[in-house]
Amino acid sequence: MTQSASGGARLAPESDVPRRSRGGKRVARRRRDSSPFRLPLILTGVVLLLLAVKGVQVLLMNRAPAQADVPEWITQELLEVNPYSRPGTPLEQVNGVVVHYVGNPGTTAEQNRSYFAGLAQTGETYASSHFLIGLEGEIIQCVPLDEIAYCTSQRNVDTISIECCHPDAEGQFTQATYDSLLRLVHWLQEEYRLSSDQVIRHYDATGKECPLYYVEHPEAWSQFLDDLDAYSDPAEE
Ligand SMILES: [Zn+2]
Repeated sequence: MTQSASGGARLAPESDVPRRSRGGKRVARRRRDSSPFRLPLILTGVVLLLLAVKGVQVLLMNRAPAQADVPEWITQELLEVNPYSRPGTPLEQVNGVVVHYVGNPGTTAEQNRSYFAGLAQTGETYASSHFLIGLEGEIIQCVPLDEIAYCTSQRNVDTISIECCHPDAEGQFTQATYDSLLRLVHWLQEEYRLSSDQVIRHYDATGKECPLYYVEHPEAWSQFLDDLDAYSDPAEE
């Protein structure tokens, strides 16, 4: 019943064919162009496209800040690209900052950087970190922030690493090292929008006893995270 009814309805437009050829087609087209929904639809499309482009830009900014954005209190002494300490592999995303100790009491940041650089020749192991913080609080950057460093095993692919020097085998940082660590981690948190639970010890990532003092003294690590939450950069005040 309905089929025959719709069949009948379909016949009706067909009978219009002769009329369309006499200008009806043009009338119909003009009517479509002046549809009240067309302009808002186009505008919505343009706005969505602009938002998408902006979103991608923001994502890219979060992933890898330009090297020029690194503050002047960081000394850049980037390693040469080599298979052992700076493979040149892109760091695609940053989901955390990992704190380490160098494990070699009394050595300076510069000495540890030289060790990383020397691996290119000796090839004795794979090791490096994005940053080294020395006993006097000096900060050296060894690897660009948009490349991976060899520091945290399986988390190399999505974290930034900081190695801290220490005066003795116990591994506690000097006050100057500690203060620079706060400043550097705080800056990285702002650059990558990381919460304080994304600031971890090497131990939290792989179970390695690093940074030793802050593994053996969990309360000292908790204190560091508290200090980080309360931190405001002297240059920002
Ligand atoms: Zn470590």
